[in-house]
Amino acid sequence: MTNLGSLAEGLAIMAIVGGLIWLGLFLSPIVLARVRSSAGPRVPLTSVPPAWRTITDRDVPFVQLLSAEEQERLFGLIHVFLREKTFQGCAGLQVTEEMKITIAAQACLLLLNLGGECYPNVQIVLVYPSTFVPKLALRTAGQVVPPLVPELGESWQDGSVVLAWDSVLSGARDITDGRNVTLHEFAHQLDQEDGESGGVPILDSPSALRAWGRVFRARFEELGERAAKDEPTVLDSYGATNRAEFFAVATETFFEKPLELQREYPDLYEELKRYYHQDPAARLSRGRPPP
Ligand SMILES: [Zn+2]
Repeated sequence: MTNLGSLAEGLAIMAIVGGLIWLGLFLSPIVLARVRSSAGPRVPLTSVPPAWRTITDRDVPFVQLLSAEEQERLFGLIHVFLREKTFQGCAGLQVTEEMKITIAAQACLLLLNLGGECYPNVQIVLVYPSTFVPKLALRTAGQVVPPLVPELGESWQDGSVVLAWDSVLSGARDITDGRNVTLHEFAHQLDQEDGESGGVPILDSPSALRAWGRVFRARFEELGERAAKDEPTVLDSYGATNRAEFFAVATETFFEKPLELQREYPDLYEELKRYYHQDPAARLSRGRPPP
């Protein structure tokens, strides 16, 4: 819940930890007013279209790791996602039901215990058959960014997510390689929900914000130092690019290499566990999906 008292408390605490300027930038009334609180919809498993189950059984094996109650909420979220978002094929691609379900299932995994709306900023998912070279884009006022190298995905604050289908599928089918472009791009969307893209999604409380800032700043800087020395870590060195990429990479790792992340960066794992209200390490320990 949010009220002026909690805001005043947060501001007072922020003053105490004045050194955490980056953290303080995000302690705004807007952030606090958008705390997630509601539970997601549920669809009884007996009401899930058999074709959806066939697709998730084949392409999205992590679904089988979820409890029946979690699966009911996941399929409820998938239903909302498909109703609210538009899919559009690019470069001649015809978007199929398999593509929609596979993308929606992974995107909605992040929302499973977050409550709130289903990616309120996302309006369209653009799907390329494979890696794509971004077109000229006006990213900030007056600044045109030229085409870069081929990409697997993009996440824009204008309400679009761009994905390469072959990478979506390979990322979905292998849930232990630490690479998942869908989780990555939709983590960016969560990060951007407060209008900023700085690696700080909407958090539950000022205390959660303080802990997040402390842990994420330390681990981001550590990853940068280790990447500079070509020292391997469970986190992909791409996460050292900036704080937004760090959160997206950490999210991929949290869901796909949770045991390794928990072992190597226990404090980072705990922050992600507290944010997503999920414990993938425990889930994975309970049972792996069939090959
Ligand atoms: Zn990214």
